[in-house]
Amino acid sequence: MPIRPITITGEPVLHHPAEEVTVFDDELRQLVADMFETMDEAPGVGLAATQVGVGKRVFVYDYPDDDDNERRGVIINPVLEIGPIEEGEADWDTELEGCLSVPGERFPIKRADWAKVSGVDLDKNPISIEATGWFARIFQHEFDHLEGKLYVNKLAEPHFTAAKSVIAERGWGVPNKTWLPGVDNLED
Ligand code: ZN
Repeated sequence: MPIRPITITGEPVLHHPAEEVTVFDDELRQLVADMFETMDEAPGVGLAATQVGVGKRVFVYDYPDDDDNERRGVIINPVLEIGPIEEGEADWDTELEGCLSVPGERFPIKRADWAKVSGVDLDKNPISIEATGWFARIFQHEFDHLEGKLYVNKLAEPHFTAAKSVIAERGWGVPNKTWLPGVDNLED
């Protein structure tokens, strides 16, 4: 089962803090391999384990950093540090975020420009990555997933209410809704 169905907002696993990974076994390796495939097929720039229905503290990412270097990896049991989040309204052009668990929708949200994520890889080697800009945004978005928070739950008004309406209109916000990358096209 390389490409796994992606959970849609309303699925309980998305809305509860995920558990620390304590067992580093073949099942975890398979989960991570499947998460990379699922993220690539979606396509997405990041994917948390909760988005494939697994309540474990794992996320994968694939995005160029601010120097345009391709960055791709997995972080297990991440800890996140962030810089200050600027006051004011989120910008429709430069701060428009999306989420594979709210597919096809985008809303603007403020994030810190700087983030540092620390954790371990599949071999329990420590990892620590500093990021700025969109790369930092991805870390914040994926870390939130592992805390049981979706970006649509954190929006400022009027976007919070707009997102709520869209989710209701599309019949989401209830359990057991998923979509399968490569099969379902929910972007349209
Ligand atoms: Zn997301």
